[in-house]
Amino acid sequence: MKSIKAKEGEIFDIELDEDLLKRNEELARKNRDLLDKNKITAVDVMGSIGSGKTSLIKNLLFRLRTKYRIGVIAGDLTTTIDAERIKEEEVEVIQVNTGKECHLDANLIRRALKEFDLGNLDFLFIENVGNLICPAEFPLGSHKRMVVVSVSEGPWMVTKHPYIFSEADLVVINKIDLAQAMGVSVKSIGEDVHRIRPGLKTVPTNCLTGEGIEEIIKVLFLESPKNA
Ligand code: MG
Ligand code: ZN
Repeated sequence: MKSIKAKEGEIFDIELDEDLLKRNEELARKNRDLLDKNKITAVDVMGSIGSGKTSLIKNLLFRLRTKYRIGVIAGDLTTTIDAERIKEEEVEVIQVNTGKECHLDANLIRRALKEFDLGNLDFLFIENVGNLICPAEFPLGSHKRMVVVSVSEGPWMVTKHPYIFSEADLVVINKIDLAQAMGVSVKSIGEDVHRIRPGLKTVPTNCLTGEGIEEIIKVLFLESPKNA
């Protein structure tokens, strides 16, 4: 079969602009400094639309919110659907609408951080825009990056998005209750992840029953904030 491979820099894509990526990294470092100064642990949650990022964050909030002060930044192109759902957990939520941009960047996070009373937060969850490609290139200043994949996305989604896994600290394999119906093996999704990054931690979850949520908390070291 004939195939054409795009060379580095050949595609007209603003995201390949090195200056832009460098500027983003500088701002990400500033965000991290600000978070560290306020002893806030921040987690960037990445994954496709429909992978279950919002449900997962709600599950984490449900377990953590009685003990800790938590803020959430909800990224989305134009809607506030996720932010409204997250608000049900009675935590402070800042909506960031990116318009046409398919990822959050460090500048948008910098602006969102200004909306919080940072001295009153232990944890910050950032729900990135539903997309598995460019969020990887834009660090936000978070301490951990988590990728959520769902068995409902079919058997190839990990293999087809290798780059994002090289930037992740944890991969959540979500909606495992649907695995059989989808004809997808949770084990082989884990193996696909490990072909890309041996040793990367994977946690199977079901947000309807809460299976796997405690394990995520353990892996992300969420139990060791400033007031512990
Ligand atoms: Mg969502
Ligand atoms: Zn993008």
